[in-house]
Amino acid sequence: MHFLDTPIEYLKGVGPLRAELLKKELSIFIFSDLLHYYPFRYTDRSVIHKVSELSADMPYIQLKGKIIRFEEKGQKRAKRLIAYFQDGTGITELIWFKGIRWIKKGIKRDTEYLVFGKPSAYQNKINIVHPEMDIFEKQQSISSSLQAVYHSTEYLSSKGLNSRGIRKLIKILLPQIKNKIEETLSENLLNKLKLPKREDALINIHSPTDTNKLERAQKRLKFEELFFLQFHLLKMKLTRIKKHKGFIFEKVDNYFNNYFKNHLQFELTNAQKKVLKEIRVDVKRGAQMNRLLQGDVGSGKTLVALLSMLMAVDNNFQTCMMAPTEILAQQHFKNISHELKELDLKVAILTGSTKTKERKELYQQLESGEIDILIGTHALLEDKVVFKNLAFVVIDEQHRFGVAQRAKLWKKNITPPHILVMTATPIPRTLSMTLYGDLDVSVIDELPPGRKEIKTLWRSDSSRLRVNKFMHEQIALGRQIYIVFPLIQESEKLDYKDLMDGYKAISAEFPIPDFQVSVVHGQMKSEDKEYEMKRFVDGITNIMVATTVIEVGVDVPNASVMVIESAERFGLSQLHQLRGRVGRGGKQSYCVLLSGHKISNEGRLRLETMATTNDGFKISEVDLKLRGPGDMMGTRQSGMLNFKIADLVKDGKILEFARNEAINLLKEDESLEKAENINIARTYRPYAKQRMGWSRIS
Ligand code: ADP
Ligand code: MG
Repeated sequence: MHFLDTPIEYLKGVGPLRAELLKKELSIFIFSDLLHYYPFRYTDRSVIHKVSELSADMPYIQLKGKIIRFEEKGQKRAKRLIAYFQDGTGITELIWFKGIRWIKKGIKRDTEYLVFGKPSAYQNKINIVHPEMDIFEKQQSISSSLQAVYHSTEYLSSKGLNSRGIRKLIKILLPQIKNKIEETLSENLLNKLKLPKREDALINIHSPTDTNKLERAQKRLKFEELFFLQFHLLKMKLTRIKKHKGFIFEKVDNYFNNYFKNHLQFELTNAQKKVLKEIRVDVKRGAQMNRLLQGDVGSGKTLVALLSMLMAVDNNFQTCMMAPTEILAQQHFKNISHELKELDLKVAILTGSTKTKERKELYQQLESGEIDILIGTHALLEDKVVFKNLAFVVIDEQHRFGVAQRAKLWKKNITPPHILVMTATPIPRTLSMTLYGDLDVSVIDELPPGRKEIKTLWRSDSSRLRVNKFMHEQIALGRQIYIVFPLIQESEKLDYKDLMDGYKAISAEFPIPDFQVSVVHGQMKSEDKEYEMKRFVDGITNIMVATTVIEVGVDVPNASVMVIESAERFGLSQLHQLRGRVGRGGKQSYCVLLSGHKISNEGRLRLETMATTNDGFKISEVDLKLRGPGDMMGTRQSGMLNFKIADLVKDGKILEFARNEAINLLKEDESLEKAENINIARTYRPYAKQRMGWSRIS
């Protein structure tokens, strides 16, 4: 057995009881687990604070002074020992609830101590509960070392395994690991990136002698973590490309060229051209394409999709496009049919509401190859939908579909079709490299010219009258308005009431017959929802009062105002999505964020961000900082985002390095056979095995 595989109970200071606790609470089973249980923070023990400057919002700090008096207070469970501690600037209380006898015996009065702990407030006084105490020795240059702080749990702490307890265990372990830590990276990489050896990094991550050493250790361990993941993702991609042959679109021919030259109404943006070229390369290389297209709302993703679909048709293949809602599918169908009306092509739509008779006919036409382009909803996934030769699939708003659904489309042909998934929710590069690291990612980072910036105003509830007046003006100009109310699961009933109250108030402010107000929410039957939405799309209603059901993709160019109620309750990306519903025509558009007065700092930052930028990528960066990767992407995918030490918010640079090095390595030694890569090979094999279960998106 390798030394590091020794069960944790055999570490001095652990024993069977504590071992049980460590296993249960922190999943520390063997020495190796403890060694890789990294600190989450460090305290600089070279800085000494004054008692006079203590406040409860300080982190762990250090004081130097003497205990002048002990006092015991309270009975039984409330029993505590108070030490009055003085440093010449004031007196503070040190408090112990446990081990009182031992403390009283062990700690001397009128002796200079270094005290270390976290100030807190209790009954208007500042105190420090269960501090660490070291006798201060004059000669000892005040330790310049950084002290590691570990996460613990309440329960562990109560059993003596708080941060300090864990630190003690690691102190016992560290001297024993000398020459027992296998290097995982190649000499090559270490030299090139000037990274410390693994053993040194592990020692310095727990017990750094100075900041420089600590930083190098962190960089090394972060790099390693990100490097193996990137290598894995890129390798899976390579494997996939080799395994799935993919249809070859030899030529760009009549349909594409005819549409491009004679019917396309505008010049493509540079970003659109770039993405089209990327797709063109993919579809003729003989491997299946799996590409994610990210682009802000209104950046013109649909057009890129349409042109790509024409490439398929030019090569006598069928193609389909799947959207998450009936309305969106209808909209795509209408637009695409309109765009292609001069071309001799058959475009069809299939949704849940397609009548049985039409459906049967449609199925036949699909199988015979009569239909070239099929647009639809989930209905496309059904087994009865069989194509003659489907070769290109577009999935719009991909985050609305599950992995399984996307996978179904793969199976619609013997050779899996090329897949283009599109999303209007840009995510930061660090996240997409991780979550979608094995896909190709294209980005449209430019809006078509002539778009007016949406003006975003943040107003408090008390400005409601002025907002009403503004809405009247906009309606008088012939524009339409969205008013959105929050809907969160936990307080659905209350939210519903807010929505209906709001609807009533708006209907009173904008009464029939001069005005038409629609309302749409999740508790309505979907036919009713569709009906109301349609009235708005057709310009019959002036105002649409809704919950976030309108979030996705609906295109009403005449809508120029988006009012968001209780905006502080929405997440950033949701706010951005909502705002993207306006600004689709040539008219100046507005987004009004209404909020209460009492807003958390985070809420404030969200609204400020919205008011200062329209750039979805910038917004997603802020969102990532606020929520962290796990919450931002939802729990389902966060397994991939669980890092031991790397931080996708802060470590973008290291991630780029890691990815580049992974790419280099794949080029030079894909199957890790070269002697110089033996360390990497040894580490990667079990790593890959462990991650076999990760299902990747289509
Ligand atoms: P999204 O990326 O949100 O799906 P769409 O594809 O719906 O955006 O495009 C938004 C609007 O911009 C559409 O009305 C589309 O016709 C228009 N559009 C797309 N590309 C261009 C372009 N290059 N120049 C001008 N308008 C464009
Ligand atoms: Mg779209």
